[in-house]
Amino acid sequence: MSEQRKPILEVKGLKKFFPVKDSLGRTTGQVKAVNDVSFKLYEGETFGLVGESGCGKSTTGRTVLRLIDPTEGTAEFKGQNIFDLSNKDLRKVRKDLQMVFQDPYSSLNPRIRIGNALEETMLIHGLGNKQSRTKIAMEMLKKVGLLEDHYYRFPHEFSGGQRQRIGIARALVANPQVIVCDEPVSALDVSVQSQIINLLRQLQKEFKLSYLFIAHDLSVVRHISDRIGVMYLGNMVEDAPTESLFAAPLHPYTKALLSAVPLPNPNAKKERIVLKGDIPSPLNPPSGCIFHTRCPYVTEICRTAVPVRKEVAPEHFVACHLVG
Ligand code: SF4
Repeated sequence: MSEQRKPILEVKGLKKFFPVKDSLGRTTGQVKAVNDVSFKLYEGETFGLVGESGCGKSTTGRTVLRLIDPTEGTAEFKGQNIFDLSNKDLRKVRKDLQMVFQDPYSSLNPRIRIGNALEETMLIHGLGNKQSRTKIAMEMLKKVGLLEDHYYRFPHEFSGGQRQRIGIARALVANPQVIVCDEPVSALDVSVQSQIINLLRQLQKEFKLSYLFIAHDLSVVRHISDRIGVMYLGNMVEDAPTESLFAAPLHPYTKALLSAVPLPNPNAKKERIVLKGDIPSPLNPPSGCIFHTRCPYVTEICRTAVPVRKEVAPEHFVACHLVG
């Protein structure tokens, strides 16, 4: 299956380390925020990235878009490595790769009317003229469930859900192919969350968009993703089509995460796996398997040897000594 389809975005061996400096400015260590992450995003699909806070999922999204520079690895957009592009070529590709943030309010200038903010995005990418930009901005406001009239309003006049709709409209006016959605519904009420998820799905169909959808909540990711990657301490421990992941999770960390997701049937029973201990520091990650300090199935080999990521079923990858 994977041989027949060409990914629109392919990330291989991505690493992002942040240096830690002492008071004299000398590097004393490295925070391994992202450590060897690989995945494919296919056209018109959603790849969900999930994991606890601080696992490196947002850093992965930002590094892929080259908002921060990678330490190692490649991110190919339609076969072109984003990390190799000159600033001029990167600017051209940026139009096709947009981002929706958790808090769009912080990235909206409170003194700029919404319509002008949308037009600014088009202007940055050299799209259209004044007249066509205004027309597209008004159309896009309607597409995301707002009114043409909202064009003239300021950010403080909107609710959280409406602001996220504006954030989505601002990404869409550039006519992108890939959108990185970084915790786009985490700050919203549950009822508003589902409205935004439904909107994203509807827009995906209409504009043939591909999403990299980042969230800490597995039940949210499940609703929108075709495939899901599970991250722990900067590593992708398992990635699989959504159905396979939920029907037969293989990595002990995925099993623990899934055991905490409520079942649709309230009478159905499942055992909650409670992990012991805290997440180790990415400044000094455990040797061998990154999860061995908390894994209920840990054996001697797990403490010394890093498990290799293996394809155990079509497009189902796991990094665990017990699997495969
Ligand atoms: Fe657990 Fe070992 Fe598998 Fe790591 S490799 S998840 S420690 S069983």
